[in-house]
Amino acid sequence: MKSEFPAPRIRWILESGEVDARYTVRGWVRTRRGSKNVHFVALNDGSTPAALQVVVPAELPGLEELLPQIATGASLEVDGLLVESPGSGQRVELRAEAVRVLGAADPETYPLQKKGHSFEFLRSIAHLRPRSNSFGAVFRIRSTLAQATHRFFGDRGFNYIQTPIITASDCEGAGAMFEVHTRDPEPFFGRPAMLTVSGQLNAEALAYGLGLVYTFGPTFRAENSNTSRHLSEFWMIEPEMAFHDIHDDMDLAEAYLKALLDAVFERNAADLELLQRFVEPTLIETLSNTRDNVFERITYTEAIEILERSGRAFEFPVSWGADLQSEHERFLTETHFKKPVMVTGYPKGIKAFYMFQNDDDRTVAALDVLVPRIGEIIGGSQREHRLDRLTARLLADGMQLEDYEWYLDLHRYGAVPHAGFGLGFERAVMFCTGMANIRDVIPFPRAPGQAAF
Ligand code: ATP
Ligand code: MN
Repeated sequence: MKSEFPAPRIRWILESGEVDARYTVRGWVRTRRGSKNVHFVALNDGSTPAALQVVVPAELPGLEELLPQIATGASLEVDGLLVESPGSGQRVELRAEAVRVLGAADPETYPLQKKGHSFEFLRSIAHLRPRSNSFGAVFRIRSTLAQATHRFFGDRGFNYIQTPIITASDCEGAGAMFEVHTRDPEPFFGRPAMLTVSGQLNAEALAYGLGLVYTFGPTFRAENSNTSRHLSEFWMIEPEMAFHDIHDDMDLAEAYLKALLDAVFERNAADLELLQRFVEPTLIETLSNTRDNVFERITYTEAIEILERSGRAFEFPVSWGADLQSEHERFLTETHFKKPVMVTGYPKGIKAFYMFQNDDDRTVAALDVLVPRIGEIIGGSQREHRLDRLTARLLADGMQLEDYEWYLDLHRYGAVPHAGFGLGFERAVMFCTGMANIRDVIPFPRAPGQAAF
């Protein structure tokens, strides 16, 4: 018997378990079928989409009493002998020698009886959906992406930092904010406080000491837009690099996205196949294409020209100075270039005050990374580090300088060119899983009118 912790899981047993060795496995019953002489239980433990076939001989002592409890959804512990599988499409199966029911599941009420439930229905049982095939795959890939993120930045000398979740600066201008207060009318923090929409400004302060930093934390936006790509609570990865510019920012974004894909291909091959079969038939092709191609790099102005020349009737008109809408982004990446596109040089009027002002006086060194099926997955920029330009921009936008005191102070001493971006983690999970609704790539989604579980 193996003595390591944790005990071997089904993924390992299916791939590497030794024939004629004895194993104890634990998992949940996917299905049970059988005859008078023998029962076949498909057991899944969340380590892989596949189930281990457990063969239970009818003469197993005590089976008669147990059998009604060995139903879909029940949890079992099985001791058995691993044998070559004669024909189940798997290398091995487990011949049960003892079966213990850990937790029964009443077949009359267990909601995950049948395959093929809609994602809408599964969303209404978000506490049970991790046991379904698709959501198992999605959440395993989500985990791979998170772990690959830490590896990618860690290996390159970035420091993992934490920025506040409660913030009193509403200066990001990234979207509507949730206010934080107690029942007491007096403001708890002595001033209005909000849930953060981005850790960027704080990350800049850390980058000015540590050089290379990144955050990986929750962010909150109170936009009342019920789209398939927006959540009220989502996670963002925000690297910030001192002594680097917009070109380095693009290099970093491209290398990071490719590192995420490498990790998913390496660790989640079976999950990708499952999602490709049941969710998005172009999934693997799109991901390989992204991993293997050099991302296109264009300016906003070039993007507008391409869109104008396209002859497409877009719902939102295309004109220099207006923000790119999702339909425009998707046209550029899916139809025109057929690969990820990095767009820089946006009009300053549609971008935040902290972005580096280009010499042309009308654009800023913003960076959006667009990918097929999603559109914008990353938003970033080189930051304006020149105090005079930063101050002028704030005043031009009609902002109060005293609200930005610490941020201005930061650039008063030892300012250097610096750049960074924010990757919407759930957009990355959507991209890597083929899921079409952002509510289906986070375990317990928060969206307008929706905070259950
Ligand atoms: P969009 O135009 O798609 O609403 P944005 O430009 O407002 O996004 P940024 O402020 O640039 O977003 O945020 C950085 C990244 O965070 C985006 O590129 C996107 O991947 C992600 N993101 C932004 N808003 C949301 C949201 N409400 N839910 C999930 N992810 C989001
Ligand atoms: Mn953006």
